[in-house]
Amino acid sequence: MGLLRLILLGFIIALGVWVWRRFNRRPSNTVQQPAAKTMVRCAHCHVHVANDRAVQQGQIWYCCKQHLAQGPKARD
Ligand SMILES: [Zn+2]
Repeated sequence: MGLLRLILLGFIIALGVWVWRRFNRRPSNTVQQPAAKTMVRCAHCHVHVANDRAVQQGQIWYCCKQHLAQGPKARD
């Protein structure tokens, strides 16, 4: 009798979880958030720019192609 109650209890819990999931389902058509932008520093003018707008050369970043051409410059 005890085992039967346990099975019944498990069944009720499973049913409860199923109902809860059914009603708590979030709409799947939510827009996927774009990958977080990383701020990088221009090696020439030391201005911080988002990496999607920056120009990369190996491990070094530049804010624009002009600064890429001029190369890294020490901060004064
Ligand atoms: Zn720059």
